[in-house]
Amino acid sequence: MSSNRLLIIDDEPEVAAVIGRVARGSGYDTIVTTDIDDFLNRVRTWQPTVIALDLGMPDLDGLQVLGLLADEGCAARILIVSGRDHDAMSNAVALGLQRGLLMAGILQKPLRLEELRIAFREIFEEAGLISKSDLAEALHAGQFTLEYQPKVDIQTLRPIGVEALARWHHPTRGPIGPDTFIPLLEQSNVILDFTRSMFDMAVAQARAWQTQGLPLQTAVNISGRCWGAFDVAELVVDSCAAHQVDPSLLVLELTETVAMVNEPRTLATMKRLAQMGVGLSLDDFGTGYSSLSQLHKLPFSEIKIDRSFVADCDRNDESRIIIESVTDMAHALGQKVVAEGIESDHVLKHLARLRCDVAQGYYFGRPMPAREISQWAHHWTETWCSAEA
Ligand code: C2E
Ligand code: CA
Ligand code: CA
Repeated sequence: MSSNRLLIIDDEPEVAAVIGRVARGSGYDTIVTTDIDDFLNRVRTWQPTVIALDLGMPDLDGLQVLGLLADEGCAARILIVSGRDHDAMSNAVALGLQRGLLMAGILQKPLRLEELRIAFREIFEEAGLISKSDLAEALHAGQFTLEYQPKVDIQTLRPIGVEALARWHHPTRGPIGPDTFIPLLEQSNVILDFTRSMFDMAVAQARAWQTQGLPLQTAVNISGRCWGAFDVAELVVDSCAAHQVDPSLLVLELTETVAMVNEPRTLATMKRLAQMGVGLSLDDFGTGYSSLSQLHKLPFSEIKIDRSFVADCDRNDESRIIIESVTDMAHALGQKVVAEGIESDHVLKHLARLRCDVAQGYYFGRPMPAREISQWAHHWTETWCSAEA
């Protein structure tokens, strides 16, 4: 069953047909009905994600239908369609909201195709629904770029590296965040080409900084799907050769779910990367289930403590104890500890006392376009790093 389901209740077949056509073009499955019992039955069993409700049906009061939907605890987004005046439609929306329904907007008859398209696009966005072909097209059109967030040595505060973070600049929708599009990419194979493309972009950038006399270790997030789908080590070899970059200038960040699956291929790839000198970083540590005792089996060079522990380490004993024990263990294994999500000087000092090695967070700098990094590094070093350090 598709995750986008539109149920239309309307007594005019032509109107229902137009709505259905536009919705299908936006990736919806659609069902049309004119009968209230059938409608309510579909609401329960088919669980539409969007409902287009005609307010002006001859034998049916639209406001009453809204009441019935509220009684059902309906979670669909409701689009009001009607030929009535705008006030009547606004009142219907207000009533729906009052009854706890999710109202998606109003469409005035006669329907204009363009308005309909915009309405579905908006609902689509609101629900975070973006189609596979949108993603492939965006990648093809070069709409994905990278920003870089600085990482500094926690003792000397010197800039030592950056993390590359993907950004989507949609031509009409504006910026869309990675927390929205990465999970969508991961549902399709587009994530594979996306990862190759972002990785190559980051390697080219690492080379550019090195040429400018700024050798920043550049970290790239490699999604779980990729490790089983293609040879990540091969990607690194090819990209480093193409851009003449030493693999030791690169770090791959992966989450524990990837690392902990006992997939021999992933482990072999990680070992090969480690031998090449590529850094391997265990991202979001603490949010999953990996036990400390498992970690020594994997060739990580650093552990990145999730920002949820970092943020409250100055006032939450549990977070502090977790950071302390991870740091002890990591150091015993020759691994570095990175604290991410540092937003204050106060938290930074705590983490330095807890013997973390590397710091990252808004306190030092937000993710920024590549061209701003060298200026940031210069300014930061002048301000915070003593000449002899
Ligand atoms: P992440 O790998 O944990 O990246 C760190 C996230 O924390 C980034 O969010 C960054 O902007 C944010 N952050 C950094 N410092 C602070 C701070 O001091 N306070 C707070 N509140 N947040 C901070 P962003 O850029 O929105 O990325 C979100 C997630 O999307 C990333 O989490 C990563 O899992 C994923 N992601 C981003 N780019 C890529 C990519 O190219 N490939 C893959 N596979 N995933 C990516
Ligand atoms: Ca990361
Ligand atoms: Ca992280």
